[in-house]
Order: sequence, then C-alpha cells, then structure tokens
Amino acid sequence: MKQRLISLLNFLWPKKVKWQLVLGVALVHAVLMSLFIFDLVKKEKTLLLNQFYEQAIFSAKTLSSNSVSWVLSNDVSGLQELILTQRQHKELKYAFITTMNGQVIAHTDAHKIGQYLTDENSLNVLQSKRDLVEVFNGQNLLDIASRIKSNGKTIGWVRLGFNTDFIDNNLYTSSRQGLLYTLFTILVGSLFALFLGNSLTRRIRLLIQASGAIDPTRSEQLFKRTNQDEVGELMNNFNLMQLKLHKQYTQIQSHVRKIENLAFHDALTGLPNRTMLERDIYKSIKTNLKSHQFSALILFDLDNFKQLNDTHGHEIGDTLLKQIAQRTLKTQNENHKVYRFGGDEFVVLIDQLGSDYTQATSACGLFALELLASLTEPFTLGNMHYQSTVSIGFYIMSNDYDHPKQAISEALKRADIALFSAKDNGRNQVAQFEPSMLAEVMENDELTYALKRAVEGNQLKSVIQPKYDMKSNQIIGGEILSRWDYRDSSIPPHRFIELAEKNALIGLLTRNQVEWLFKTLNQCHCKMLEFSLNLSPMLIFDNDFLTDLKRLTEHYNIDPNMIKFEITEGVFISHNQKALRFMNQLKNAGYKVSLDDFGTGFSSLSYLKNLPIDELKIDKAFVDALPGNRKAEAIAKTIIDLSQNLQIEVIAEGVETQNQRDFLIRNDCIKCQGYLYSRPLKKSDFIDLLNQNRSEFASNNAELNAAETPEAP
Ligand code: C2E
Ligand code: CA
Ligand code: CA
Repeated sequence: MKQRLISLLNFLWPKKVKWQLVLGVALVHAVLMSLFIFDLVKKEKTLLLNQFYEQAIFSAKTLSSNSVSWVLSNDVSGLQELILTQRQHKELKYAFITTMNGQVIAHTDAHKIGQYLTDENSLNVLQSKRDLVEVFNGQNLLDIASRIKSNGKTIGWVRLGFNTDFIDNNLYTSSRQGLLYTLFTILVGSLFALFLGNSLTRRIRLLIQASGAIDPTRSEQLFKRTNQDEVGELMNNFNLMQLKLHKQYTQIQSHVRKIENLAFHDALTGLPNRTMLERDIYKSIKTNLKSHQFSALILFDLDNFKQLNDTHGHEIGDTLLKQIAQRTLKTQNENHKVYRFGGDEFVVLIDQLGSDYTQATSACGLFALELLASLTEPFTLGNMHYQSTVSIGFYIMSNDYDHPKQAISEALKRADIALFSAKDNGRNQVAQFEPSMLAEVMENDELTYALKRAVEGNQLKSVIQPKYDMKSNQIIGGEILSRWDYRDSSIPPHRFIELAEKNALIGLLTRNQVEWLFKTLNQCHCKMLEFSLNLSPMLIFDNDFLTDLKRLTEHYNIDPNMIKFEITEGVFISHNQKALRFMNQLKNAGYKVSLDDFGTGFSSLSYLKNLPIDELKIDKAFVDALPGNRKAEAIAKTIIDLSQNLQIEVIAEGVETQNQRDFLIRNDCIKCQGYLYSRPLKKSDFIDLLNQNRSEFASNNAELNAAETPEAP
C-alpha cells in the first residue's frame, strides 16, 4: 500500500524542475493561506459572537430595568409594547416577559401571552439565583434571561432569543473571499514560480546542451556571456572545463602520436617497423583484390652482420644498419616502402606492379638486383671501409586471397623462405620464392620436430670410426660420430647436425654423446687409446658446457688426456677471442684439441702458431686427390711439414686406398682413419675389432720378438 502510494506520488510529481517549482509554490501557498484564513475566520467568529453576546446582554438588561414599573403596575399592554420595540433588533427571534412564576405576560408572539413556561431550560431559569442566565447558546440561537427586580425582589424575567445565523453567513462570506484570495495568491505565486522556473531552467537547459556539446577537440568557450549568479558560475566552470579538456586532449594527442610513432617505427633507423609492415601488407592485399594488381615483398639481410657486430662492436653495427636504411630509401620510388623487419633484416614492399605476373616478377627481380648492387658498394663506418654483402628473397603476392589476414604471415613466410634459399645457395644473391621451396621447408619443420624429440629422448646413436697407426696397423683410438634413423631412413649427419645447431639442440646432443663415450670407455679396456669428439662451434657460447664436461669426466673417472675435441678452423675466424679462451680452458683441463677439416677454410699459417692445438686433421677432400693431383699433394705435404714445425700431431681422414696410405706414410703422416681400415662401427663391433687388433698385434710382436731373439743353443 505504502509502496503504491509512493509510486503514485512519484508518478504525479512533475519531472521538470520548472513544474516542480510551480507545484511547490502552489502547494505552499495553498497550505499557508488556508491556515491563515482558517485562523482569521475563527477569530472573526469569536469576535462577532462576543460582540453580539454583549449587545444581547445589554438589551436584556435594559429591557428588564425598563420593564420594572410596567410589571409592578401589571400593565400588560405597556409591556407588550415594550416587547414589540425589541423587534428593532434585526436578529431577534423572540422576546418575552414572564412573571416570576413563569407565566408569559408579554411576547413578540402575542399568542403565547398567558402561557406558562414548562420546558426544562425555563424552569432552570426560574429557579436560578443569578440575575442573568444564558439559557441557550448554540445552534444559531442565543437565548438570554434577565431577572426583573424591584427593591431586590424578583418580579419577573425578561427573555430574549437571538438568531445567530448572520454570524455564520458573515463567516461564510469571509471564507469565500479568503478562498478567492488564496486562489489568487496561488495563481500569482505559481505564475511567478513559472517565470522564475523558466528563467532558471532556460539556462539550465543551456548547460544541459553545453554539457552534451562538450568537445575536447574545440578550444573556444561554450558560453560567451555569463551572469553573476550561481548558474553563471556554473557556466564559467563549464568554460574552464572545456578549456582544460581541450588542453588535456591536445597533450594526449601528442602522446598518442609519439606512442604510435614508437609502436610503428624502429627507433634506430626511423623506418616503419614490422607492425606497420603487417598493416601495410594487409592494405596492399585488400587493394590488390579490387584492382587485380600484384605487389611484392622483398626481404633481405646482411650476410655477415653478426661477425661485424662481434668484432667491431654494436655501435659500428648500428651505424651500418642506419646506412643500409638510408641507401635502401634512396632506391625507392612512390610505390616502394622500406621497413626494418628486425635485427639485420629489412623489407621493401612494392605496390602496383601491374596485373601481369611475368612483368611483375621481372620488375621486382630487377629492383632486387639493383638493391643488391647498391648495398654491396662499400660503406664508411667510422674510419674504416666496409664491404657488406646481402642476401635477398622476394615473393610476388597473389591478388587472389580468400583470407587476407592469414595471408600476411603467409606472404612474410614465403619471402623468408626465398631469402633462406638465397643464403643457402651461397649468399650475396637474389632468390625468388618458388612453391617447391615450401615443401622443403615443411620437410625441414617436420625433421626439426622429430630431431628435437630424438635428442631430448637420447635416441640418437653413436658410432666409432677407428683411427690407425698406418705403420704398425694398430688401432690408436677412434672418432665418435652420430647417427640418426628417422622413418626407416638414415638422415645424413651433415643435415641433422646443422638442424641441431640451428635449433639449439647441439648442446644436449654433444653432452649425450660425451656421456655415451665415457660409459663405453668404462666398459672396454681402452687405456692408451685416444677418442675424438666433434665439437660444434656453437658450444663455445654454451657457458655450462665445460662445467658439465668436467663433472662427467670426474663422475666416470676418465683421463681427460684420452679425449680429443675436433673443431673446425672457421670458429677462429669468426669468434677469435672467445674461441681461443674456450680452447685454452679445454687444454688447461687436460683435454686435447684437433683442427678438423684442415685446409678447407682460412688456413692462415700465421695464426696457427698461436692456437692451443695438438693436432691437424687433413681434410678428406685433399686425401681423395692423393696421389697424383699435384696441388693436393703439395697441400698435404705442407700440412705435414707445418705440424712437424709446430711440433703437433697430424692425421689424415678419408683414407680409402693403399696408394693414399703409402703416400701419407712416405710423407711422414702415420695416423689416419678411413674406409681402407674401417668404417664407423657400433660399439660392440668396435670392441671386437679392438680386441682382434690387439691380439694380432700381440702375435705379430711375438713373432717379431721370436725372429729377433737368437735361438737358445
Ligand atoms: P667429420 O668430422 O669430418 O667426420 C668424418 C666424416 O668422414 C664422417 O662422416 C665419416 O664417416 C666420414 N669418413 C671417414 N672415413 C671415410 C672414408 O674413407 N671415405 C668416406 N667417403 N667417408 C669417410 P659422417 O659420419 O657422415 O659425418 C659427417 C660430418 O658430420 C662429420 O664430419 C662431422 O662434421 C659431422 N658430425 C657427425 N657426427 C657428429 C657429432 O656427433 N657431432 C658433431 N658436432 N658433428 C658430427
Ligand atoms: Ca671430425
Ligand atoms: Ca673432417
């Protein structure tokens, strides 16, 4: 019920301030005026009644004193005349005189003369001791009795009855006027409230409009003219607010521009970055869908940037990147846009290559070649001249994609595959993406995944290729080589080792192999032999490798002198200092170091003498050409001489023929490994071969001893 009442009031209560004001003023006026008029009427009534009462008493008293002589003389007609004079009172209803016994002796209604009063009121009057009795007062009648006395004795009573209707009539008139006044004041008040409300709400409405129209992009004031009152103050505040908002807005805008610039540009070169590139590729694809034009992505990177960075420091590297950016920008025209993709990789996006695929391809290829030529011109970095080469891959984006969003990463991937192919083919060249490359990459991805699982599950196998002393035919040790069978086929070590290096698996692979070798050494009687492990150049960056190696060596109680690490000389060219430190640490821990594939790389004789190495390993490529090829012969001889001068060992790999063996022995290279002696063997076969070789050697020795020892007489 209460709830209903509240909701009804809510419903009735006006929604607009203006009408709330009007209703409020009207209600207040109505209540106050009503109270005021009610009070006024009440007071008027009392006043009128009192006045009338006094008049009535006065009349009754006057009449009673005037009638004394008439009553004493019992002059009824005189009394009657006296009574009739009372008719002058407008409000008189009746007037009569009684004897002290209550007999009417004069009456305004002559018929009543002679009658006795028997009603209760009259009897009370007759018995009353007072001189003046108010017989009845109410119901529009005032009845007053006044004793007629002569010499202190009661001789009769005068009774006057007045009609008091006129008082009510008067009050009614007053009330009606009061009501009119009330209505009038309500009306005037409401009109005033309406006027006030209008002027107030007009400005409030302005404020409402203004607050809706607040626009941080505008700097001008919302209100041109304002009053001095509170609304004016509010308007001024709105003006201030608009100004502040505008100021903040411009500040935010400038921050947003800066952030956008940072988010979409590379800080070093100032070029748009990868995020921007992805947006632009999307736009380009969308445009091409409509215009049926081709566009192209050219992705290139510097061939030996890492080396430059490592040898000359990052500042020089940064300078080169900036100059590459500048040079690339110079080659562009209005349809080209250059981006820094990350690291030393840059992208040129070429739009509007026309709707003919062949023409688009040749235009893009031509541009890529120009770019290649421009970027291989020497750079001046500080006070040095530097010639860089770049590899470039490009991809002509189709103009018919079903899912342009997915096409972005697809396009980038294809340009990257082309770049990879350019690098794979020997760097410093341009390659265009071809669908066949995709299959290769997919195969690589699959293989990488499988290799990861295999390495992590320690599923790769190790084999040992025996190393021989060619003079005595004795096994002097072996080289440990990895084998991996995937899907019933044996993956060539070159392939999976490269994958392992690229995917950070080589560290674990090598540790597994070291552990395998150490366990094997504990199972066979291999003392006095020497075992080689191939060490990927990447391991010189593996800070924990040496610690792990030493831990394993101690754990399996291995003599580090039996272990030789084969490392290719390339590592000394690209990471000279680091490689030297690493080799020295290996050497200091007691291990041996061999320079693998010697002769194929840098082979600078001057640096060799500073390297902490124990052995040179003549690469199979030279051994293959022995004997007969004069160049190969010269190189092989030089390497052997070198080792003798440096007082280090020399070993030949890939010895397949007797002639090769003879040549090497003739030239003082006694140690070798090769198919002529043995292929790489699994552990058990190696142990069998070793045992067999030992017993042959023992019996040969015995024979030799027997031949040399003179027979006992
Ligand atoms: P490498 O270190 O030069 O190893 C010698 C390679 O020559 C081995 O090939 C071996 O099987 C092969 N070989 C030895 N004698 C002859 C011969 O008389 N004729 C012919 N045709 N080949 C011979 P493999 O096992 O295929 O290994 C190839 C390369 O893979 C190795 O070359 C080495 O660079 C790398 N590699 C293999 N296993 C590992 C490994 O466990 N770790 C690392 N880091 N590299 C490994
Ligand atoms: Ca080797
Ligand atoms: Ca080799």
